[in-house]
Amino acid sequence: MSARDGRADASPAQAAPACAEDGSPEGLLDEALRRAFWQSLNRAPLPAMSALEVAARVVGALYRQVAQAHEGPNGCRCGWEPDPDCDLIVLEANLAAALLQPPEPDLARMVALGRA
Ligand SMILES: [Zn+2]
Repeated sequence: MSARDGRADASPAQAAPACAEDGSPEGLLDEALRRAFWQSLNRAPLPAMSALEVAARVVGALYRQVAQAHEGPNGCRCGWEPDPDCDLIVLEANLAAALLQPPEPDLARMVALGRA
């Protein structure tokens, strides 16, 4: 599913105006998700792992919703076929890769704000 296949507009339109350096759809989504995460924690702080566990569960729930949007005769016809076992491996690999990356400057700043 992506903006390219016309399904992205089926989700709630609440993307913040983005100033992602890279204006790609991936960059815009990345920025919107990070912004929502930090804004929420600034309003209602949580223990670190609790916040990250919520974020991980949300990714799982989003997977389920996107997969569901590809089922049945009215489902998205982009050709993607959900395969939870294989897709989970891909998601875990992305999670691991992100964990091992050095923090980006903007993220480091947001972490500081989150602790303020
Ligand atoms: Zn699709």
